[in-house]
Amino acid sequence: MGQNELKFVDEFREPELIHKAADEIRRLADPSRHYRLMEVCGGHTHAIYRFGLKDILPENIELIHGPGCPVCVLPMGRIDDGLSMAQDPTVIFAAFGDMMRVPGTQGSPLEHKARGMDVRIVYSPSDAIKLAQANPERHVMFFAIGFETTAPSTALTLMRAKSLGLANFSIFCNHVTIIPAIRAILDSPDMRLDGFVGPGHVSTVIGCRPYEWIAANEKKPMVISGFEPLDILQSIVMLLRQLKNGEARVENQYKRVVPWEGNRAALAAMAEVFQLRPYFEWRGLGFISQSALRIRDSYVEWDAEQRFNIPGLRVTDPKAAQCGEVLKGVLKPAQCKLFGCECTPEHPIGALMVSTEGSCAAFYNYEHRKTAALTNLSASA
Ligand code: SF4
Repeated sequence: MGQNELKFVDEFREPELIHKAADEIRRLADPSRHYRLMEVCGGHTHAIYRFGLKDILPENIELIHGPGCPVCVLPMGRIDDGLSMAQDPTVIFAAFGDMMRVPGTQGSPLEHKARGMDVRIVYSPSDAIKLAQANPERHVMFFAIGFETTAPSTALTLMRAKSLGLANFSIFCNHVTIIPAIRAILDSPDMRLDGFVGPGHVSTVIGCRPYEWIAANEKKPMVISGFEPLDILQSIVMLLRQLKNGEARVENQYKRVVPWEGNRAALAAMAEVFQLRPYFEWRGLGFISQSALRIRDSYVEWDAEQRFNIPGLRVTDPKAAQCGEVLKGVLKPAQCKLFGCECTPEHPIGALMVSTEGSCAAFYNYEHRKTAALTNLSASA
């Protein structure tokens, strides 16, 4: 059955189809080779652990977790900057739920809330607009984060704020772009990769064309992938076929969602509101040029960075935390000295342990807990 004939989520989890794809992977993988494939997107990392996909792959296929979890790549200094604006008692700090437990140097937004800061969870940027309309005597600052997946909704929110002339609302823009991050990883001297399971969510907006340079210049195949088990396994089949044939092309496994040319309306909204920053700091990857978005001057009234004085300090991660190495795929989550002892999902030290898309949290929640349960079981037997 071809993937485009599948219509329902259950079909992408069908054991028979999954076994067929796994057999095909075993058939295509050259036993004399070790394959290192990077899944760029945090959603893929989560699915790989959740569905135990590593367990059905041959040992010579290693999946490297990439930088596609936006919470994980945000440096601590930006969290401190956002929280510093909300020290002003007239300001309401609004953000998505996954930001709430991300540690800053003086604690997470949730810990600041416990100390009296007005911190609110919103489910979309437009909820933050409603919050501003409901609190005309206060200022609502929305902490915007994410790749090109979420940047269009922030752009539309800014356009709406401008059309409403909403004076008590601003956005602290932390949107980043995926292509420069992939480029930085490929430039990393300690990184050897054979191909990429490409990001499905981001590609619904940017399409497939921006990845063509990877295939052309870096000679690495890239398969844009969906998030169900069968999607990911089919993408690995497509990568192995290309590697076997000595090819390096961009392919789209996620055709049911990702248009090759992307979403023109979303791209137009982003172009109206954002421009590239000259450089931006990424946790674990350092400063990457033209890798993030800032709000254009025509929207300056709604740019929190322009309205407030922010410290803009660079903050290094706690010394023993090895988030940078894990983010670059140099270390596996469990190889970090703090994993599972000082750093757990309940008490995260690094951002990779906070977001469900973070590789440390995904590994902890699925692999680590499973191993711990099996160990307890055999101890009590
Ligand atoms: S275990 Fe914690 S400190 Fe270590 S890499 Fe993961 S998130 Fe960072």
